[in-house]
Amino acid sequence: MGSQWIFLGGTFVKKEDAVVSVFDHGFLYGDGVFEGIRVYSGNVFRLDAHLKRLFESAQSIMLKIPYTQEEMTQLIVETIRKNQLESAYIRVVVSRGKGNLGLDPSSCSTPSVIIIAEALTMYPQEFYDNGIKIASVASRRNRPDVLSPQIKSLNYLNNILVKLEANQIGVQEALMLNDQGYVTEGSADNIFIVKNGVVYTPPVYLGALEGITRNAIIDVARAKGYEVRESPFTRHDVYVADEVFLTGTAVEVIAVIEVDGRVINGGKPGSVTNVLLEEFRKIVTTDGVACYPATNHAVVS
Ligand code: PMP
Repeated sequence: MGSQWIFLGGTFVKKEDAVVSVFDHGFLYGDGVFEGIRVYSGNVFRLDAHLKRLFESAQSIMLKIPYTQEEMTQLIVETIRKNQLESAYIRVVVSRGKGNLGLDPSSCSTPSVIIIAEALTMYPQEFYDNGIKIASVASRRNRPDVLSPQIKSLNYLNNILVKLEANQIGVQEALMLNDQGYVTEGSADNIFIVKNGVVYTPPVYLGALEGITRNAIIDVARAKGYEVRESPFTRHDVYVADEVFLTGTAVEVIAVIEVDGRVINGGKPGSVTNVLLEEFRKIVTTDGVACYPATNHAVVS
């Protein structure tokens, strides 16, 4: 494959030339929003939902994206085509743009829009076969009334702090609680538990990002006949769950087999988790926006 092309400053530039100013407030203050999106066999999975979330994050921080949602759809599709990708990870970043050193966004006249499409690096298969271990950490999730987790902003320090704690403990992911002690989510994924055949996930108002994968899993679980409840739960409920799993764009669905040293489901991925991963993978190639016309499917994988 040739160069990797990045959409930046209204045009496509080579990866080596894709640089932003040190005066960009995205860099100086984390002032901006982003999305992580996945492409499966030329289908941009639930692109409309990702763009809705991007535009809502931007609206919340009074950042005007200089394209319509339809134009952003076209630009993302174009970036995928230009890089001749079939299965990919897309990163869309909209930052406040260049300004002076003060934090006031008024000094930034033009937002920077960046689209990066990369060939996918899959998680190791053993993660799916064996599940992962997680641990609850001391750092709490941002209170939604202080800085809403629904704003997918370039300031991910809350998440990075909990990831550091997970690394210190020696587990693959952190379990974040809110200030009341209720379970919210992982550092970059949503959490589900299964108890007596019912699937539970915390309501997002407790302090979780409304994940696109989370919502897709709720859909496929209900379509498969499972009862799904969005209701608050504590660490105790996780410890005594029949199954625990995480969801996210990168990780899809991954089983958790140990939480704070408590072994879940005998230390093996559960059957409901496996069914939901299988059902999820059935919809990812069709639910979304197709990048390549069916008649002209000449792409490299
Ligand atoms: N929570 C957080 C904090 C995240 O960063 C992500 C990844 N975007 C998720 C949950 C999962 O969301 P999605 O399924 O949309 O990737």
